[in-house]
Amino acid sequence: MIKRHSGAFNWDGVSVLPYKEDGTHFKTVTRQVLFHGGHDLPVELRYFEIGPGGHSTLERHEHAHLVMIARGRGRVLVRDQVYPVGLNDVVEIAPLTWHQFQPDEGEHLGFLCVVSTERDRPQRPTPADLEMLQSVAAVAEFIKV
Ligand code: MN
Repeated sequence: MIKRHSGAFNWDGVSVLPYKEDGTHFKTVTRQVLFHGGHDLPVELRYFEIGPGGHSTLERHEHAHLVMIARGRGRVLVRDQVYPVGLNDVVEIAPLTWHQFQPDEGEHLGFLCVVSTERDRPQRPTPADLEMLQSVAAVAEFIKV
């Protein structure tokens, strides 16, 4: 079965949804669910896109992510390092690892993300977590909370 790409990172029959239901800890992010889990694959495949000046939530959780960049360029925080990422780069985010995505200036950053259909809710950093994260200068400069 095929969900055909209809151009510009949209797929036939797939709705463009808000990234999360509510919150102020992210900016200019959309979500499309390309696969909801099924057969012997208990995973979702999502496409997220962050617009210029936006960012995903700074968070961590018990579940892992497997990400492949599909559009644009940007930077990603994984644990205590900020990495530049571009087209077709693959990012593995292990359980309980702090992460956040941001496009480069004037860019969109689109990425595919595989995640378990059964997963815990994301955790936001406590003041103590933030202090720890900000002890690394490159991280302090990068993160948006
Ligand atoms: Mn996450």
